[in-house]
Amino acid sequence: MTEKTDRIEQFQKMAQADPNNELGHFSLGRAYEEAGRDQEAAGAYEKAISLNPKLSKVYQLLGGALLRLGRKDEAIVRWTEGVKIADERGDSMPREEMVKLLRGQGAPLPTIKASSAAPSTGEGDVMCSRCGQVKKKMAGPPYSNAQGKMIYERVCADCWRDWFHMGTKVINELRLPLSDPQAQKVFDQHMIEFLCLN
Ligand SMILES: [Zn+2]
Repeated sequence: MTEKTDRIEQFQKMAQADPNNELGHFSLGRAYEEAGRDQEAAGAYEKAISLNPKLSKVYQLLGGALLRLGRKDEAIVRWTEGVKIADERGDSMPREEMVKLLRGQGAPLPTIKASSAAPSTGEGDVMCSRCGQVKKKMAGPPYSNAQGKMIYERVCADCWRDWFHMGTKVINELRLPLSDPQAQKVFDQHMIEFLCLN
């Protein structure tokens, strides 16, 4: 079995075990997308936003999958919705990305409130790679190694808390024995994906 099918199976299991968890469907969509299975990726992303319509980044990815499937009009509808949601939530990175994508298709842009200038980060703040907002840092690096330091510099305290919750689910649902280095690798991969640290 290839690593990609492996990952798809893991996320299928997670999405089935906890069908109302939008993050399971989101991760499954990413895994399908990486495997070039856009039809299934679009389905998983649609499921994720039906559970949580505020996941602005998912509109971006869903539109991309739809465009590759030759469904340009639907992609434009999704990106337009996504820009509005990202704008309301202050998710500046997905908003900018989707504005670019709409422009690239010659589609009209929705009216947005926020300025496109990057927000400035103050002392104790971080421009978070996951939520795209400037938010409070954690009290300190979560691990003492280089990875812990990198996470501290790139992820806000709220998103780290979300991952903590999700990480516990990953361990339980995939029954990962963390003493096993292979399982630790799988766990780290989930973490990097969840926190958008790629
Ligand atoms: Zn964050």
